[in-house]
Amino acid sequence: MSDTRTLLIIDDCAEDRRIYRRYLLKDPSQSYQILEADSAQDGLAMCQEILCDVILLDFYLPDMSGLEILDHLKQERFETPAPVIMLTGQGDEAVAVQAMKKGVQDYLVKQHLKPDVLQLAVRNVIQHSDLQTVLSKTKEKQRFMIQQAELLAQTQAALMKEQKLNAFKSQIIRTVSCEYRMPLASILTAASTLKQHSNQLDKAKQQKFLQIIEQKARYMAKLVDDLLVCNQFELNKAQFKPQPLDLCHFFSDLVEEQRENLSDRHQLIYKMIGDHKGFWGDGGLLRQIFMNLISNAIKYSPDGGDIEFHLIGGDSQVIFYIKDKGIGIPIQEQENLFQAFCRGSNVNTIPGTGLGLAITKVCVELHGGDITLESQVGKGTKVTVTLPKRPGELNSCKESV
Ligand code: ATP
Ligand code: MG
Repeated sequence: MSDTRTLLIIDDCAEDRRIYRRYLLKDPSQSYQILEADSAQDGLAMCQEILCDVILLDFYLPDMSGLEILDHLKQERFETPAPVIMLTGQGDEAVAVQAMKKGVQDYLVKQHLKPDVLQLAVRNVIQHSDLQTVLSKTKEKQRFMIQQAELLAQTQAALMKEQKLNAFKSQIIRTVSCEYRMPLASILTAASTLKQHSNQLDKAKQQKFLQIIEQKARYMAKLVDDLLVCNQFELNKAQFKPQPLDLCHFFSDLVEEQRENLSDRHQLIYKMIGDHKGFWGDGGLLRQIFMNLISNAIKYSPDGGDIEFHLIGGDSQVIFYIKDKGIGIPIQEQENLFQAFCRGSNVNTIPGTGLGLAITKVCVELHGGDITLESQVGKGTKVTVTLPKRPGELNSCKESV
């Protein structure tokens, strides 16, 4: 037999209460502690005092109707109201249905009530209420577990971000210490040679040493700039301020700037077609994109050759690509090169830190654009950038080149 259950009979008829009590105490499958109240007031007062498992409620009480009692039971002071079985007279089924709508679990007609019918009805209601309790506890548990899982995921994400940042910081320290040593040594050597032996050096030699100092210092300054930019991107602090830009002029100026510093071995070809009007972009970020791609094309073409820069204007987007005939990139390494500090295995002694393409990719993405790379070892590399004319519009208006 299961635990003893507490049952409250609210009925003004003492005879009826006695009958219910007798019937229920005869139930071989369930034991009860039975309480009685002969008025609605008393019944409600008892409900406040005692936690009942079931209430048997007479529909007609002298001080309150069954429906009014139900309303009272639903009030906040009864946090988990006990399930109710309504007892009605014959012909009151319509009222009983109304009571069911108000949350009564079952109803029984008083006349000709049999012991087994009452026993079964009460047991069913108890079972149902037990199931409800288990269900709501399970739901609560589930909610708790979901909350915990969300919390865990958030913590893991924060931890991973932290780890990524730490790894990035360590890489910065490694890069600075490695990449700074060589140029710094060259600068120190050149400077001390100039200081100690300037009298013995002719003008051309002096110029050569000064050039080394300038070149190495520029390299070191770029390294610091790139690291700062990358650090900003890592911290999600990148700024994107689009403005209307005349792309033809913008790139013409950059190409001219590059041509001035170009060696005789390289030739920079600039071609543009299509409609470039109506473009909005961030000048600073676009400059980063162009400078990184052009400097790669030049740097990784040590034997010289043509470097082509093509600008193609479309209705809703612009495409530009930079093509060289340099050393190329091994196919299996191509997709990783947009990650910071990644370099190709065929760079030999060509200097670099592996930051340029990572910076370029973020700059392109800030514009809502796309960057792709095609390359063949020994044949050359082509990097294509596609940008929407108005940032945020690329996906809705893809065009073919
Ligand atoms: P820096 O940070 O100074 O630009 P980097 O040139 O090594 O250094 P990225 O510009 O990010 O770094 O390029 C990453 C790598 O991709 C390079 O080290 C090189 O191996 C390869 N790479 C990029 N562009 C080209 C290219 N045009 N031709 C051949 N290899 C290239
Ligand atoms: Mg580079």
